[in-house]
Formats: sequence, structure tokens, C-alpha cells
Amino acid sequence: MAGHAEPRKTCERFLTDAFDLLEITQEIRQLLRSPYREVQFELPLKRDDGSISLFHGYRVQHNQSRGPFKGGLRYHPEVDAAHFVALAEIMTWKTALLDLPFGGAKGGINCDPRELSMGELETLTKRYATRLSMLIGPNRDIPAPDMGTGPQEMAWIVDAYAHNDGFNPAVVTGKPIELGGAEGRLEATGKGVAQIAALAAKASAIDIDGATVAIQGSGNVASFAARFLAARGAKIVALSNSSFGCYDKTGLDVEKILTLFRRLREQPDSSAEKTADCTKISNAELLELEVDLLIPAAIGGVINEENVEKIRARLIVEAANMPITCGADSALNAQGITVVPDILANAGGVTVSYLEWVQNRQRYQWEKERINEELEKRLHRAWQAVHRKAEQEGLKYRQAAYLIAIDRIITAINLRGF
Ligand code: NAD
Repeated sequence: MAGHAEPRKTCERFLTDAFDLLEITQEIRQLLRSPYREVQFELPLKRDDGSISLFHGYRVQHNQSRGPFKGGLRYHPEVDAAHFVALAEIMTWKTALLDLPFGGAKGGINCDPRELSMGELETLTKRYATRLSMLIGPNRDIPAPDMGTGPQEMAWIVDAYAHNDGFNPAVVTGKPIELGGAEGRLEATGKGVAQIAALAAKASAIDIDGATVAIQGSGNVASFAARFLAARGAKIVALSNSSFGCYDKTGLDVEKILTLFRRLREQPDSSAEKTADCTKISNAELLELEVDLLIPAAIGGVINEENVEKIRARLIVEAANMPITCGADSALNAQGITVVPDILANAGGVTVSYLEWVQNRQRYQWEKERINEELEKRLHRAWQAVHRKAEQEGLKYRQAAYLIAIDRIITAINLRGF
């Protein structure tokens, strides 16, 4: 599980710029800045040893103008309500930008899943789903995995939901394939990052074949982004975990380095680190490498006011959520560094989640080729819309992305009325 960064609400400036350009009224601004509903509840759990632990469950539903709420479930000891408000909001912009018929939500439990047995996790997850049973459902709110949760937790939620409402796998996405999960969900976010990075590189006159790429992280998103970019001919010069980075200016052997980081994750005390066939660098140094593409794919806020002037990449693709602080974003603009925003770059995962939900509603399992084709088509369409708008109106990609997303939400609000 990743380390934890404090999530922030979307930068005021990103939204204010879009609100001003779209001439949005104060009331609607207020509506979009605050969540539709915030739920917080106690989750007592009888542990295997007979003791009682008290956890808290959360679900923040931000906006549902364009369809049911959609967003992941995070299990982490440090989460709180503010955390989920920030993350739910991002989901609203992301689903609208990808033109998916969903709104935005996020939730979870303030537990450390590594300290719970499988039995305890099952009880806790099912209790969480039961407490939320009035609010979730295929047409209401569709959770998915996030940090600390995965297909197994989703399978437990399908079971808990079935007790009152009957079997309906469309209540969650990111399920095991055997229960209606989509082929290709695991790699979808990293695959999408690679696709968008290649498109953005081309638009910046960078040939992805031979381009140098530094990636922060080696988890799900980072590993698949690295593999898919290497397959396009890019030279992955750096990858990292939370303690150090591996660097080779001639290009890393991606599979070998990913295996190293996987071994270190599974056995943190192993001697694997000493045998690493690369130059060891810090995460700070990784971010400051002179490369064609920099892909922060680990945690939020890593490019900030302290290090922004040292950033030397030509193009930054935000694979993590909010890896660049508001102040650093302005500085990067001034430094002439192009940034592809998170709501576009890492939207591959929620796009395949949507395809899973569609399959579940059809009660028909699609083949992987069809899912990949749809994913690619939808990401390409979103990229084209953002790129065209940015070119035509002289905007940064982030501004263009927010304008498109917010315009779609406002259209839905106005069509539906109050
Ligand atoms: P993960 O847990 O699989 O991997 C996280 C990586 O971050 C690991 O390599 C870990 O070593 C590294 N890391 C942790 N703390 C760090 C630190 N302090 N400094 C540097 N590296 C650190 O998580 P993931 O699913 O790959 O998600 C990565 C990011 O992408 C997160 O911001 C997540 O919100 C975002 N994201 C993920 C998905 C998805 O489908 N998995 C979708 C959209 C956005």
C-alpha cells in the first residue's frame, strides 16, 4: 500500500478560472464546491482475539448531475472526512471529462488492512456496505477499489448488497473476473497514462520512441505505465519506491527493476537493494532529472514550491492524483514546462470501471480486445477535446480539461432543473 499524502481540495484557481470563463453564478459555484452528501459512521469490530476495535466509515458523494456517484474505497489509518471530500471532487471532474455517465464520490475506512486478518476484513467490509446499503447501488453510487482495497473487498460488497437487494454485480466495479469484473482493469490506469503520455509527447514534438522518461513510483500505475511506455520505445531511466530510486541514463531493464521493488515490498529487510543493477538516487533527485517526460505516479504534492525551480523535464504527466501543488503549477507554466493534468492522464481506470458496469448491466462478459479498444477510443477522444480546446483558446491543458468537464456538468444541471 502506498504511503499517504494529504489530499487537498482542487486548487481554487483551477476552478475559479473555469467558473469565470463559463460565467457561472455564485449559487452554482457553491453547489460544485461542496459535496452533495457526507456520511460518517462508527464501525466497531470484534477482533479475532476477542478485543473490540472502533473504526470509522466514510462516504462522500460530491455530484450526481450526470449519473450515479462513482469513486473508490480507501482503507488507511489516516483518512478522514476532509480527505474524502477532496478525492470525491476530483472524481466528478474526471468522469465528466471522460464523458462517462457518472458523478463523483469517494469513501473508505480509517483502518490499516495489513493489521487485520482476512476474516476481520470481511466482517468490516460487509458491515460498511450494510450501513451504506440505502445509498449505494447500480443507479445510486458505485464504489470501486482504491488504496488498501482490491477485488476481494468488492466481492464482499456484492455479497452484502445481495442480502437485501438481490444479486447485482453492477453495485461495484473492480471485482474479480469470476464475479463480473472486467478484463484489463488491473493495468488500465497505467496503460492510459502511457497512451496519453505518447499523445502529449507528440504534440510537444517529442518522439516517444527513444524519449527519456523518469517515473516516480513502482506500484500499480507506475509499473504498467513503465511497461507500456517501454513497449512504445521510450527509455525508462528511473523508477522508485518510497525510500529510493533506481536510475540508469541508458535506460533501465524495467521488468528487472520492478521485480526488485516487488521483492523489497514483500520482504522489506531483504538484501535485494544491495544487488540493484542501477545507480541509487533519492526521490527528490528523481524528480529533478533532466528528461523528456517526468511521470509522478506515487503520491500527491511531490512537485511543490520548494523543488519546482529545479524541475528540468520537458513534459510532466500527472499519473498520481494532484502530484503538483497549486503554487508549483503556476511556476511550471512560467518555466515553460507542459503539464498533462491528472483528471485526463489517470482516467484509464475509471473508464474501464465504466465498461465493467456496462457489461454487468448487459449480463454479458466482453473480451479483453473489446475493452482495450473502447478504452483507447475514449481516452483518445478526451485527449483530442482537451488538446483542441487548449490550442484554439490559448489555454494550458489543465484549464482546457476543467472547462470541458465543468461545462458538461453545468449543462446537465441546467437540463435537469432544480
Ligand atoms: P500503489 O500503492 O500500487 O503504488 C504506490 C507507489 O508509490 C509505490 O511504488 C510506493 O512505493 C510509492 N510511494 C509511496 N510513498 C511514497 C513516497 N513518500 N515517495 C515516493 N514514492 C512513494 O498505488 P497506485 O494504485 O499505483 O496509485 C498511485 C497513484 O495513482 C495514487 O496517487 C493514486 O491515487 C493514483 N491513481 C491510481 C489509480 C489506479 O487505478 N490504481 C487510478 C487513478 C489514480
